Amino acid sequence: MAMLEVKDLHVHYGVIEALKGINLEVNEGEIVSLIGANGAGKTTMLQSISGIKKKTSGDILFLGESIFKKNPKFIVQKGLTQVPEGRRIFTGLSVYENLMMGAFLRKDKKGIQQDLEKVYAQFPILKERINQDASTLSGGEQQMLAMGRALMAKPKLLLLDEPSMGLAPILVKEIFSIIEEINKQGTTVLLVEQNAKMALSIAHRAYVLETGKVVLSGTGKELAESPEIQKAYLGG
Ligand code: ATP
Repeated sequence: MAMLEVKDLHVHYGVIEALKGINLEVNEGEIVSLIGANGAGKTTMLQSISGIKKKTSGDILFLGESIFKKNPKFIVQKGLTQVPEGRRIFTGLSVYENLMMGAFLRKDKKGIQQDLEKVYAQFPILKERINQDASTLSGGEQQMLAMGRALMAKPKLLLLDEPSMGLAPILVKEIFSIIEEINKQGTTVLLVEQNAKMALSIAHRAYVLETGKVVLSGTGKELAESPEIQKAYLGG
C-alpha cells in the first residue's frame, strides 16, 4: 500500500478545472517530484492534498485513510505537513518562535525538545539566529526556517512547494542536499518544482504535469534522460 494515493482527482477554481483527473502515488521512504510549467497545477495539487483547497471529485488516501474531506489540522496531526510556496514565515516572531509554531498541535514536550535539537543540528544557522526576528533572515535562511518549522510537526510525509524559488544556485544545491538528508533520516517527501533539473536529480520517481494532467511519469533518472523532457524542461 502506498503512503499517499491520489485517485482521479478533479479540482476547480469556479468554472476553471485546474486538475483534470490526477492519479499519483508516493511510497514510504521515497522522494517524489512533481514538475511542470507555470500554471500546470502543481501548487493546486499540494494544496488539495494538505486540505487547504476544496476538491471536486476523486479521492486522496493517506496511510490508508481517505483525507479527501478532512481539514488541514486533521491532516497535519495524521502526519502530513506542507512547506508553502514563498515560505510564509511569521515576521515579528523570532526564529525560535517560528519553529515552535510548527509544533503547535503537539503535546509531547520531550519529543518537541528532541526535534528542536534535531532541527538545530540540521540547520546550524537557525540556532545561531535563534532570537532574531524571522524577517531579518536571508531568502535561503527563510527557506531553512520554513522547512525546520514543518519538521517540528514531526511529519511522516513532507510536501515542499518550490523550495528553490528565488535562491542563488549555490543555495539551491544546499537546500536540495538538505532535502535528501531529511529523506534519509526517514521522512517521505513530495516536492513541487520549476527547477526540473534539481527536482529530477534527487527524485526516486517523478510526475510531469501539463495543464492539470499527468503526461509522463517514471524514475527521476528516466525522466532526466528523456529527450521530450530535456527539450521541454531542461533546456537541452
Ligand atoms: P506556478 O508554478 O506558476 O505556481 P502551478 O503549476 O503551481 O504554477 P497552479 O498555481 O496550481 O499552477 O494553477 C493551476 C491553474 O489554476 C492555473 O491555470 C491557474 O491560473 C489556476 N488558478 C490557481 N489559483 C487560482 C485561483 N485562486 N483562482 C482562479 N484560478 C486559479
